[in-house]
Amino acid sequence: MEIDLLTVESARTAILEKQISASALVGSFYQRIEAEDAAIGAYLTLCKERAYKQAAHIDALADKGDDLPPLAGVPIAIKDVFTTRDVPTTAGSKILQNFVAPYDATVVSRLESAGAIILGKTNCDEFAMGSSNENSGFYPVRNPVDHTRVPGGSSGGSAAAVAAGTAVASLGSDTGGSIRQPAAFCGVVGLMPTYGRVSRYGLIAFASSLDHPGPFAKTVQDIALMLQAIAGHDPFDSTTADIAVPNYGDYIGRPVTGLKVGVPAEYFDEGLDGEVRAAVELGIQELKNAGAEIVSISLPHTPYAIPTYYVVATAEASSNLARYDGVRYGLRASGGKSLAEMYRRTRDTGFGAEVKRRIMLGTYVLSAGYYDAYYLKAQRVRSLLSRDFDQAFTKVDVIVTPTTPTPAFKLGEKTDDPLAMYLADIFTVTADLAGVPGISIPCGKSKEGLPIGMQILGRHFDEATLLQVAHVAEHALAARP
Ligand code: GLN
Repeated sequence: MEIDLLTVESARTAILEKQISASALVGSFYQRIEAEDAAIGAYLTLCKERAYKQAAHIDALADKGDDLPPLAGVPIAIKDVFTTRDVPTTAGSKILQNFVAPYDATVVSRLESAGAIILGKTNCDEFAMGSSNENSGFYPVRNPVDHTRVPGGSSGGSAAAVAAGTAVASLGSDTGGSIRQPAAFCGVVGLMPTYGRVSRYGLIAFASSLDHPGPFAKTVQDIALMLQAIAGHDPFDSTTADIAVPNYGDYIGRPVTGLKVGVPAEYFDEGLDGEVRAAVELGIQELKNAGAEIVSISLPHTPYAIPTYYVVATAEASSNLARYDGVRYGLRASGGKSLAEMYRRTRDTGFGAEVKRRIMLGTYVLSAGYYDAYYLKAQRVRSLLSRDFDQAFTKVDVIVTPTTPTPAFKLGEKTDDPLAMYLADIFTVTADLAGVPGISIPCGKSKEGLPIGMQILGRHFDEATLLQVAHVAEHALAARP
């Protein structure tokens, strides 16, 4: 069995039809991780005991001939920002190096209840702050397609594990593009659900009004299965919406005839790489050939999205990260002569440079005298960006754009220039700010063989239409010579 090619669907079928036991499958995945992951660095922690225990549970169900749950025996990986009981959760930070949470995140327990097997926790930028995974407090992740290049960030480990076939699917989080951008760079599918569709309970907070948990997989169909397992109201997260969750599988295979696809001029300006433009234009053409109507639209406030994001996100981060003080969680630096000195030493040794930069920036924009000029203004612009989407969605059903302005860049290429790094998020941060869902699907390759991603954005809580359109595009693109 070529386990690197397994999908959620085919892994479950293999177990259902007893071609392999869940325990043997997990064993094969750990062998593959041992062979492949040293060169990639997608994993921070493996949780073998937990994985084999869950595999034994699935095998017992299969032996009894019981109905198997929808993700039965599917080996997955979890970004290390989601808490896992008895297994370390670091958020990619030295400040949480030995932290073990006393409870599972809602998404983790829902995936396990659906039968999935958690192989381990994946590497990420520290506290999910970054676009390349080079901000991990431990080691960078390398792009499985080209080891000299970044996998994207911040959920780079989760994207790389799926691309390298060291997990069938995975979970990431998207605050400013961190699912869709690494999906595009690694050539896999990544979905950011609507804000409020998936619980944040047990997700280590970066920017609470922007953090969205979501899945990575090889196919749109697999994404639908993963979303089905994690979506829905959670009494432990009051920002989750009590809105019925449709059966996403019903939308896979539906034609797009008559659907209106918006193409925003602002996402195709001169900053866009020529090969990315050509690939995405072909993707749009495929949707047209499949019967969709292509409509030119405008999202006029797009140029303000990056500065708005880096004010709102850092402001929220500065208050969320105040809890890491050496008293309540993780690391405590020794040698401090007073409580204040212990706090300072802990935060100085525990946080990396980018996290410190964000805390300082966020504290500044929230400080008396600057609050109105920066934070309040950014909130107003955020409303304008949301309004852009609301107006567009009165005319079209989905919006199609490139996911990133370029394919994956080289390790080290942007580390000295934070602003250049922030610009990698230019097409993805808008949806986070507006809270609308978005998916990135593979859409061809550059001449150098680097994956290119096409982004599809939808109305609030309309992940179903996104999946419908993404599936049609995925199949049309795969059929292309
Ligand atoms: N790259 C963006 C940042 O650095 C987005 C990160 C994310 O979505 N978690 O903040």
